[in-house]
Amino acid sequence: MEKSTPAPHVAMLATPGMGHLIPLAELAKRLAARHAVTTTLLTFASTASATQRAFLASLPPSISPVTLPPVHLSDLPPDALIETRMSVECTRSLPALTAILAELTPRPAAFVTDLFGMDAFDSARRAGVERRCLFFPGSIHSLTLFLHLPELSAATPGEFRDLAEPVRLPGCVPIPGVDMLSPLQERSSPAYAVMVHLAERFVEADAFLVNSFDAVEPEAAAALRHPKPGRPPVYPIGPLIVTAASNKLRDASNKPTRDPCLEWLDRQPARSVIFVSFGSGGALPQEEMRELALGLELSGQRFLWVVRSPSKEGSVSANYYDAESKSDPLGYLPEGFVERTKGVGLVVPSWAPQIEVLAHEATGGFLTHCGWNSTLESHVHGVPMVAWPLYAEQRLNAVMLTEGIGAAIRLPETKEKVTIAAVVRDVMVGERKGALVRAKVAELQKAVEEGLREGGAATAALDGVVENWVGGN
Ligand code: UDP
Repeated sequence: MEKSTPAPHVAMLATPGMGHLIPLAELAKRLAARHAVTTTLLTFASTASATQRAFLASLPPSISPVTLPPVHLSDLPPDALIETRMSVECTRSLPALTAILAELTPRPAAFVTDLFGMDAFDSARRAGVERRCLFFPGSIHSLTLFLHLPELSAATPGEFRDLAEPVRLPGCVPIPGVDMLSPLQERSSPAYAVMVHLAERFVEADAFLVNSFDAVEPEAAAALRHPKPGRPPVYPIGPLIVTAASNKLRDASNKPTRDPCLEWLDRQPARSVIFVSFGSGGALPQEEMRELALGLELSGQRFLWVVRSPSKEGSVSANYYDAESKSDPLGYLPEGFVERTKGVGLVVPSWAPQIEVLAHEATGGFLTHCGWNSTLESHVHGVPMVAWPLYAEQRLNAVMLTEGIGAAIRLPETKEKVTIAAVVRDVMVGERKGALVRAKVAELQKAVEEGLREGGAATAALDGVVENWVGGN
């Protein structure tokens, strides 16, 4: 960028979920650090939880958070899927969003939102914001799926889960129908229509900023980079994750504090602990929670487990809007489990500082729901994964990680303590499959470092994005 060009201001909209907010905020931080870009970061009122408020309060001065006024959602059925809730909240917030965007000074050079904010492009257009970019918080595989979804949906007569053959997309690992995104599993559900609607709008973006990197899905990245008329250019700018250094907790007097679980990790041998966590909202049915507890115990491995109260059937994402468990989750563990595993395991209710845990040298494995941020955090810190996908695009991520790059071992569909124990042991200390997974993840960690260096692929992609904002094409 020419020195004399004024640094641009951008407006970003994060739809509900820390999994959207965290990477968008990180993008804003990286833009500020490298290009002196300032950002207005808009969020929805429904997610103004304590966790989110604390996160927004910790952002640097280059990022100005603005919460949109609340809209009513009480008419939605209580079992409405997250995708429906997010999309409805976005649509109902458009008038307020247009008014805010129209008043912003300096004028935003671009509007950036994640996939559930596609309808907000209308507000940006009405408010006269010239460039509208999609920040895609998931993998290149997911992005490819979205780009093909309108035609795929039209060409598939029944449910994806009934397809005899996996779905084949350019450069992607074949995706069995059951592993397609959860809102696409029921054609008649409102969430299905929401996903297809969002996907149809993708081509309106001026650019796709995707939170992934070539080494983790090389063929999918190459296929998407191949120019196609009408398809916006793709910029793999990832991994965008919070770093342990920027994530330090502070006490009331602003002194850095350390979570007790990190002190527990300090006392464990190097690479000996498997971290178990299901993202910001995932919870298990009670029966699976029990098998997991017994499986961890049986594995003989050290573990650190973020425990949530069990989910009701069919609602594994019950805590999505607020990660706090509603009742004491430890009460749901098998009788005597905590006492029996005292020497080797630690259970923490609801939330742990995941980045610091993954960065800790005692952590040697990650049993994860395969949320995309968790996946990237695992790669950045070189931690091999056990895949236990729950909802959203997690099953697709699990397919890509296990059948594609080989950075994880996936648990079978039926979760039994014996298999859980065997897979955990394999990823931590196994000499065949586990050793390959550990080697692959070490390779990915190196690729991440190279990509983020000066002149690396992710840095160059971000420079390209800003050049377009400033240069106007
Ligand atoms: N996270 C955390 N502590 C927890 C659970 C989650 O810090 O106990 C963070 C995690 O590091 C990641 C995000 O929350 O950055 C979860 O995002 P992901 O995409 O993995 O899953 P989602 O929450 O969207 O299902």
